[in-house]
Amino acid sequence: MAQDQQSTVIITGASSGVGLYGAKALAAKGWHVIMACRNIEKAKNAAESVGMAPGSYTVMPLDLASLESVRQFVDKFRATGRTLNALVCNAAVYMPLAKEPQRSVDGYELCVATNHLGHFLLCNLMLDDLKASPAADKRLVILGTVTANPKELGGKIPIPAPPDLGNLEGFEAGFKAPVAMINGKKFKPGKAYKDSKLCNVLTMRELHRRYHTATGITFSSFYPGCVADTPLFRNHYALFRTIFPWFQKNVTGGYVTQELAGQRLAAVVADPEYKQSGSYWSWGNRQKPGRQSFDQEVSDEALDADKAQKLWTLSAKLVGVSV
Ligand code: NAP
Repeated sequence: MAQDQQSTVIITGASSGVGLYGAKALAAKGWHVIMACRNIEKAKNAAESVGMAPGSYTVMPLDLASLESVRQFVDKFRATGRTLNALVCNAAVYMPLAKEPQRSVDGYELCVATNHLGHFLLCNLMLDDLKASPAADKRLVILGTVTANPKELGGKIPIPAPPDLGNLEGFEAGFKAPVAMINGKKFKPGKAYKDSKLCNVLTMRELHRRYHTATGITFSSFYPGCVADTPLFRNHYALFRTIFPWFQKNVTGGYVTQELAGQRLAAVVADPEYKQSGSYWSWGNRQKPGRQSFDQEVSDEALDADKAQKLWTLSAKLVGVSV
């Protein structure tokens, strides 16, 4: 297919798990996939391992834990001359056993820096590319998760603590050492992940509020299901990595294969029924064959429009963009 007729999607963190299988599913639908990854060799091998056709994808370097790398990625993408149809913010790290906060290149706590701040900068820069695209259907999709939503069963587990950004005191204080949490309180690594995913949903909602009507871009999030055997859990206890998929398959019924999670990602990016801005899609916590998606109600904190605006303003300051 000629480059100017083919839809192009950028997927961050497409070297494994949901992002990789989403890349595979979108390539199979005829899209060209920019796999935005921090490890180029790994990403190329991963694309080959799932049988993606050569020419259906391009691997490009992006380290979300470096604001400079995000800026360089955007420049490199623009140099390809491709028109952007969709951006998927998928990459994430989860480090539940970290005793001390790790830091990004820019000195921010690594989980929030990778999952939220790097993506926040990427979204802000690539809005211009989406706006400039002549396509009638343009989408920006950010991955969410059930553990960041206390209104869902899977989000009610208070270990180590529910997500809670407080009044963003940690962001207000500059978010560098010794500050490690967005609310400025004691470092809790599992909570840092939940907080970062809450930021993802607040960012999506604020993008929708600010830009949907003016640009026509569809902004959405989704929960792919419990994809319990992706490398996301690589920093957890080995025993957890054995028991968790079994538990999700046999007890909760929440388990979703990477293949199915990738198909869900591709559907939210490409299918007409997901062209509904501001939505948070879910297929529920108990999987059944043929399960239909629905617009999941998000938490009260994720619905807090004042908090979304404050998060936007402070995040913009931390990544160096104007509001
Ligand atoms: P995964 O297999 O570990 O994939 C994460 C991806 O992010 C990998 O490609 C990883 O790259 C990349 N990444 C990590 N740090 C990065 C950085 N600094 N710069 C660029 N890329 C980076 O995890 P997954 O389960 O597929 O998770 C994907 C998304 O789904 C996440 O947003 C997660 O929150 C969401 N999600 C997952 C589940 C689940 O059950 N698995 C449930 C709900 C939501 P490397 O290969 O180089 O490490």
